[in-house]
Amino acid sequence: MVAKGKVLLVDLNNYARYPSLGIGYLVAPLRAAGYEVELLSPMAHGQGGVMREHQENILDHLMRRIYMAPPGWLWQHQDWLYEIYRVWKQRLTFQRRNLLQAEIECGKADVILLSAYLSHRKPVEFIAGIAARLGVPVLLGGPAFTLPGTAKDWARIAGVSAVFSGEAEFVIVDLVRALIRGVSVYNYTGIFVHSERASQIGCGSMLEPLAELNELPIPDLSDFPWELYPHRIVPLMASRGCGWGRCTFCSDVITANGRTFRSRSLEHVLDEIETQSRQYQARDFIFLDIKLNSDVNLWRGIIDNIQKRVPGAKWIGTVHVNSMGDNGLDQDTLVRAHESGLVRISFGMESGSQKMLRRMAKGCKVELNEAFIRAASRAGISVRSTMMVGYPGESTGDVDLTTQFLERNAEYLDRINLCRFKPIPGTAFQSLYDHRPERFEDIQVFKWDYRFARASYRPSQMRDRRYRLAVLKMLNVVHIINRKPLRDNMIQFDGLM
Ligand code: SF4
Repeated sequence: MVAKGKVLLVDLNNYARYPSLGIGYLVAPLRAAGYEVELLSPMAHGQGGVMREHQENILDHLMRRIYMAPPGWLWQHQDWLYEIYRVWKQRLTFQRRNLLQAEIECGKADVILLSAYLSHRKPVEFIAGIAARLGVPVLLGGPAFTLPGTAKDWARIAGVSAVFSGEAEFVIVDLVRALIRGVSVYNYTGIFVHSERASQIGCGSMLEPLAELNELPIPDLSDFPWELYPHRIVPLMASRGCGWGRCTFCSDVITANGRTFRSRSLEHVLDEIETQSRQYQARDFIFLDIKLNSDVNLWRGIIDNIQKRVPGAKWIGTVHVNSMGDNGLDQDTLVRAHESGLVRISFGMESGSQKMLRRMAKGCKVELNEAFIRAASRAGISVRSTMMVGYPGESTGDVDLTTQFLERNAEYLDRINLCRFKPIPGTAFQSLYDHRPERFEDIQVFKWDYRFARASYRPSQMRDRRYRLAVLKMLNVVHIINRKPLRDNMIQFDGLM
């Protein structure tokens, strides 16, 4: 069969040490519709995957101390220092530029699909520039292009034909067909196009979140450099969105596939697990669901059936310890989960202070988090948690409560991913702040930056020496936890979440 046209898919996700699930969801319908698809993955060109939390050394600890609790003289200069660091991180090396250019020119594609995060501005500008010279249309997309302000800004990049905002699985074939034929995609829902003539940005309305996830194809991950990954790990999602979805700081629930909660049927998920295991000779799975226990029946169904479909399967996932009744995280279920191959679990603890959890609208209780950590660890599951420091309203006493929480539970925790609070446009925090900034005395937001989905702001807690010392004390406990080695039977999942 003659291909209808050639699609070059550029996956700019440099971080993962396993295939990009979103790319697989685009490749499958395009191939089924008769398009030739080529994937350009940075990892296939010597770009190494980045580990998230790993077994820490003293240098990691020192870097975190400088970033999280800088001395007074440094605190004042952090913004511009961070800006230098960001530009340096995002630079395109000469070698990478040459590789990208050669691949794109040799590829002779009819259309280029660029999947990017907002940190990829430079590579996107570079690739779109090459495409413009070659006369190849470029469609840009990714989970972060959901804020109209962001999509509009990125649609102005020279050479970008359109930015797609939403879940593309069921419309990608139509968009590719139109772009190859030179037909305008201006009127497609979810499309943002820069209009040269009007010197304006045209914007379609946002696509509604996909309702029927059971109609999704099985992602085609065959183009990824499996032989270069340290371990063969299959990514999948049993659901999209978060059943809670109210945390004020959360930007996951405003991404393309994080908006509103939807889940697939158990059979659909198990079929995918079995098929992908056979296809890629893999028995390790990472569930990328924002909160895998949002649909408790699905969560328990996976636990009860995964070994029947893939004997010897091992898997990891993220849950929410919500306090709204049965959340599927009782001791009995966690024991069964471990027996079914669940070796690592992640959850958002954020703080050891109930006052702060309430302010963040986290929907959980300190004592439930503690009970969960202990139950999961006793069941044999490695526990990893995210935490936040510097949320507006956090006092020295709140930080001390978090430190005490960590000290009490250090033996049950394997990794802590500690972040500094950052105000992000589009989150509930932005609405709260814009509505009544005087409620947030210890933060001043100067500007919401849609291009990179961040804000320029100044927190003031660090001015207080006692607060800074309290944070430093907490960081010592975090380091004690993070320097533990992981057990051998879960080491392949270290640094993946
Ligand atoms: S539970 Fe997690 S995913 Fe859900 S809203 Fe809160 S932070 Fe976001």
